Amino acid sequence: MLPVIALVGRPNVGKSTLFNRLTKSRDALVADFPGLTRDRHYGHGKVGPRPYLVVDTGGFEPVVKEGILHAMAKQTLQAIDESDLVIFLTDARQGLTPHDHEIAEKLRKSGRPVILAVNKSEGMRLSGAISEFYELGLGEPIAISSAHGEGVKSLLDYALEEVLPDYNAAEEGADLEDSVATAEAVALPASTEPGPKPVPSTIKLAIVGRPNVGKSTLVNTLLGEERVIAFDMPGTTRDSIYIDFERAGKQYTLIDTAGLRRRGKVFEAIEKFSVVKTLQAIADANVVVLMLDASQDVSEQDAHIAGFVVESGRALVVGVNKWDGVDDYTRSRIKTDILRKMQFLDFAKFHFISALKGAGVAPLLKSVDAAHAAAFAKLSTPKLTRVMQAAVEHQAPPRKGIFRPKMRYAHQGGQNPPIVVIHGNALDAISDSYKRYLEGRFREAFQLQGTPLRIELRSTK
Ligand code: GDP
Ligand code: GDP
Repeated sequence: MLPVIALVGRPNVGKSTLFNRLTKSRDALVADFPGLTRDRHYGHGKVGPRPYLVVDTGGFEPVVKEGILHAMAKQTLQAIDESDLVIFLTDARQGLTPHDHEIAEKLRKSGRPVILAVNKSEGMRLSGAISEFYELGLGEPIAISSAHGEGVKSLLDYALEEVLPDYNAAEEGADLEDSVATAEAVALPASTEPGPKPVPSTIKLAIVGRPNVGKSTLVNTLLGEERVIAFDMPGTTRDSIYIDFERAGKQYTLIDTAGLRRRGKVFEAIEKFSVVKTLQAIADANVVVLMLDASQDVSEQDAHIAGFVVESGRALVVGVNKWDGVDDYTRSRIKTDILRKMQFLDFAKFHFISALKGAGVAPLLKSVDAAHAAAFAKLSTPKLTRVMQAAVEHQAPPRKGIFRPKMRYAHQGGQNPPIVVIHGNALDAISDSYKRYLEGRFREAFQLQGTPLRIELRSTK
């Protein structure tokens, strides 16, 4: 599971500034979930091959007993609870304050590993900047400057290598890439190719969506008719739950996003909606079912969650739920609305379902299977290269200035999502729209519905 780093500290110490730095990689994605999580930000970041999730907790005013600041403090406590590591940010210019002591006390009680960072320390003598912060009893303070980026990289290295060593680097097809990346041959003979991993027989499935769209209802419909094989498998330190079930001879592992517990014959969500759990489940899944609610307009929050799925590269099926409860007029209106707002999900299949009545659930699962197969499809080098050549013959990449891109061969660089690596010369000159054109040709040739497809260009000099 993705490790979660929470940024905690008084207002104005520089949490947002640090957050922006930690999520600045090309993979970064920032989302607000308005209403649910006031001013809380979630973002993906990556150091080398190691991905992580950062939560900016917004503010921390532990002394306030009611009102909005109190609500924020509660949110902050939840974020700490859901994190694997807290970066406690303080301010070198203001020095140590009573508030910092209170926060330190709360953090000690939380039992989470804490790294104490002293921000805004640029241009200060190191000893002067950090000495008084030892008093907090949270170990050695690390001087950083979020605004200037000083010390941030080593802070992160320390966090991921020393404090969270158990979280492994992403395996995303790395072994495939390394072995072929330096190859010079125009077309590798298929026999020497390190084959893609076999398709896993169990489909790891996450059902995500904002509160009340019907996630628990779908889970119960899925599990109600089936024999539940296992439950409560120990996950990470925070109890995430995996539920194994079998349907039509296929094995699935459902990754819970809502803190489901079994009560008699049904599963009930005992926790409220958790963005962190949702994002971790997406990262952990092979296939995501994104649920939307047909009785409501598509919201920004729906789009944010969808954005995370695309960013993660997971296969996707969309279930537009509560189709039983809306009239024909609403049906056509909601279809138009969804197509417009969710255009970026055009690789995915949309199902109009009723989780409550079980209508459309079997076809939805069929699409899950198909999306899973597409995500793990084997794309052979000869066929990829042929499709690429045919695409170029049909429409060559435009030259850029004096550069004429020359694509030489393509091979598969990963699965779930499938990655097509194209080798050649002057590939920097290839435009995004030409990449999309290629993507369409590969999708068509390999029937890749339901999964994002990535194309990577590697120029050899
Ligand atoms: P937050 O309320 O904790 O999220 O704090 P912000 O990130 O909004 O930062 C508060 C103020 O501190 C802003 O004016 C930032 O520009 C400033 N700031 C943040 N990091 C640094 C830093 O490393 N050095 C200095 N001098 N100012 C900083
Ligand atoms: P969750 O928060 O996403 O897990 O949503 P729930 O499964 O708890 O469902 C929220 C509410 O929507 C409940 O009152 C459900 O009975 C209702 N609901 C769920 N699925 C359907 C459906 O297919 N049709 C209708 N009409 N209501 C549904």
